[in-house]
Amino acid sequence: MSILMLALLIGLAGRLALAPISVAVTPEAGVMSLPVAAEPEATPTASVTETTPVWQNANQVAHAVFRMAQPRTDIPERVRLEVITYTVQSGDNIFLIAERFKLSPYSIAWANMEPLQGAPWMIQPGLTLFIPPVDGAYHTVMVGETLDSIAELYEVQVSTLDNVWNKLQPGVALYEGQQLVIPGGVGEDVEWEAPPPPPTAPGVYAAAVSWGACGDVSVSGPGATGWFILPTGSTAVSGWYFNDARKPGHQGLDYRCRMGDPIYAADNGVVVFAGWGGGYGNLVRVRHGNGYETYYAHFSAFEVGCGQAVYQGQVLGYCGSTGWSTGPHLHYEIRLNGVPQNPQLFE
Ligand SMILES: [Zn+2]
Repeated sequence: MSILMLALLIGLAGRLALAPISVAVTPEAGVMSLPVAAEPEATPTASVTETTPVWQNANQVAHAVFRMAQPRTDIPERVRLEVITYTVQSGDNIFLIAERFKLSPYSIAWANMEPLQGAPWMIQPGLTLFIPPVDGAYHTVMVGETLDSIAELYEVQVSTLDNVWNKLQPGVALYEGQQLVIPGGVGEDVEWEAPPPPPTAPGVYAAAVSWGACGDVSVSGPGATGWFILPTGSTAVSGWYFNDARKPGHQGLDYRCRMGDPIYAADNGVVVFAGWGGGYGNLVRVRHGNGYETYYAHFSAFEVGCGQAVYQGQVLGYCGSTGWSTGPHLHYEIRLNGVPQNPQLFE
């Protein structure tokens, strides 16, 4: 073997040896970033307990929890020190997720009423959920609320709110959007399944129109143009922004509209949901066939139904205030492969 070849081999080996180092650095840095995606078959690991030294204070434990986070073992046996997020996987439902994190389904639902819009049956892969550290409620502070009023709301002692997760400082007021872990807190009733369709007068809806999820609708409508028009015809906002700091978990944008205003399909597609969507109220979802789906919520009335092909600009229904709404507006979502996007980036 010539010196030159030897040098080449050493050089190659050196490069190969370098490669794993850069790979190893990435997960280290990535450990801090949420959401944590759980493996469907997460198995409790012995290694976690084997390699756990005796920690001397809570800060060290918190540090250790971060460093021990591994893609395959994201469910520590001990109580977690913070709320984490979880990205919904294909085949998930609230009950499976609750079991995975050893929490009650109510705790998952109560922590995510906003992302789920109170309609846990519509959970979809790609959606990001809060996973509380313990059973109970997870509350977003609104203007005017106090520790006393929040404790009363969730039927707990005020002292319960002063816990390791909330890091309350004596004499420091709560702020709007602050999120509080409420161990043992009892939230509102949860509807686990879509309600049955209300009785409708004959002839009100076309035969093709059914209530709620449209089942296996194959996308056979007109192809998407690839760009979206404004569903209200205006960029005016009335309500919450996407992932609003005042309303964490708000997955859409609230456009201004007046009761009865027409709401337009943002792009060509097929109606895959037309019906009651819990907090969404009367909801239409249009699948565009290119990975995108758009949601139009709080309608006062529908103009389209299940399986119907719609064109960009076609009237889907009319502005209203059904579901979680305090006044007429359009709650609008753009989802790409299930993951909510900021509609303002498409204006
Ligand atoms: Zn909204």
